[in-house]
Amino acid sequence: MGSWNYSVFWNEAMSLAREELGEHEFTMWFNIEYDSSSENSILVRAPSSFYRDQLIKKYQKFLEGKLFELTGKHLGLEFLIVKPVAEPSTQSSTGGTARHGQDAAAGEGPRHAPSRTKREDAPREKAKHPQLRVDYTFENFVIGDNNGFASNAALAISKNPGTSYNPFLIYGGVGLGKTHLMQSIGNRVWAENSKVKVICITAEEFTNEFIQSIHDKTTQGFKNKYRYVDVLLIDDIHFLQNKLGSQEELFHTFNALYDGNKQMVFTCDRPVSELKNLSDRLRSRFERGLNVDLQPPNFETRCAILKKKVEASRVHVQDEVVEIIAKNISTNVRDLEAALTKLAAYAELVHKDITLEIAQNQLKDVFSQSKHGNVTIDNILRVVADHYKLSYSDLKGKKRTKNIAFPRQIAMYIAREITEYSTTELGFEFGGRDHTTVMHACQKIEERLKLDPNLESTIQSLVRSIKDYSAKV
Ligand code: ADP
Ligand code: MG
Repeated sequence: MGSWNYSVFWNEAMSLAREELGEHEFTMWFNIEYDSSSENSILVRAPSSFYRDQLIKKYQKFLEGKLFELTGKHLGLEFLIVKPVAEPSTQSSTGGTARHGQDAAAGEGPRHAPSRTKREDAPREKAKHPQLRVDYTFENFVIGDNNGFASNAALAISKNPGTSYNPFLIYGGVGLGKTHLMQSIGNRVWAENSKVKVICITAEEFTNEFIQSIHDKTTQGFKNKYRYVDVLLIDDIHFLQNKLGSQEELFHTFNALYDGNKQMVFTCDRPVSELKNLSDRLRSRFERGLNVDLQPPNFETRCAILKKKVEASRVHVQDEVVEIIAKNISTNVRDLEAALTKLAAYAELVHKDITLEIAQNQLKDVFSQSKHGNVTIDNILRVVADHYKLSYSDLKGKKRTKNIAFPRQIAMYIAREITEYSTTELGFEFGGRDHTTVMHACQKIEERLKLDPNLESTIQSLVRSIKDYSAKV
């Protein structure tokens, strides 16, 4: 065989193929592995002769072309059929040929049904899950005031996926740990048993893949892929709003998995009840299991999270620095992390320890931004006016008719909640009113909140719209 080794080129050709053909097509057809090289060819392992024949028919030219681009040589492809082995413990008794420390039954004996998960079955060091981030684990997730219930539920689910809390849906604003918590479930289940088939994707990927499969006429493959998983994790389902075709598809996937007691976990940036243009039947499925929300963490939790990140990062950061970051950034965990990353990068650049002074200097802008965000009173007025079908000047003006006074009070209440303005400043911004007017408004809304359970979600959804709007303008 000589000392030819084209494995690097092979890997590169595989990534080009993945890029060019797309994830879906790639995973469907490229269940093959590099085996070895000779001067003018590469030997590739395929799980069955059927697979090999399909591959040759569809992609041999394509692959050989890629290899030519990469190596400048006309390399041919040769195939070796290596049946997937179902149980690692049965491997020694199959009498197959051992290759590269990995036992596999060679030859074409119909001993085992082909499986797409051969790599998982091999008793070598555990492969990384292709879709899960290795750092999104329970070990790295700080349990705090804002996420205690959600984390405990997530832990319980990962112990017994599919048995209770199905589906599990985590909702909350950006950067609060939804994705991290969801992937922690996947990572834990996968760590304990890598035969359990875990798929983790965003709703956007699900949608794109679905559309692509229609285009390629491979919808059956698409359906099979998602209906035969054990744990399905779908991130950011708010993306499905208005996507009726994908909703329909997910609805059927949902039913198949639910009936088969397979665990589903979803995340969403708002309560399901506030999703728009979502079919009722899918909405009711989402609401069926357990829906929990993540809140922004309080000061203590923020400190605990930062300390954990510091430990993991090997930079030295004093406690007082942690505290000043936690004190000034209360929005979400992502912003906390960004501040820490910025400091760490600076410290590395100037070869200095991070002192309180450096932290204050470096994070000045971040701190002041976090305080006011982009949220202005103007933005609040615009969004609230729009919601109640009033004009901006109505809300800011002097008229006191009921249909204007109430939305105005709501706007004041929200402004008090989400900005750092004092009541005096707010009075001024709201058309030159006295600070007592603002206080009165806030009191009124608080009273109504106790009586009217719908008001809270109206306010929450307004706050979200204000933040979205402020992020755009
Ligand atoms: P979301 O999906 O809600 O927008 P992410 O899960 O992406 O938020 O979290 C944003 C960042 O904050 C991630 O880097 C995540 O690891 C981190 N994070 C969030 N919550 C926690 C927590 N409780 N403990 C540790 N890290 C957290
Ligand atoms: Mg996320």
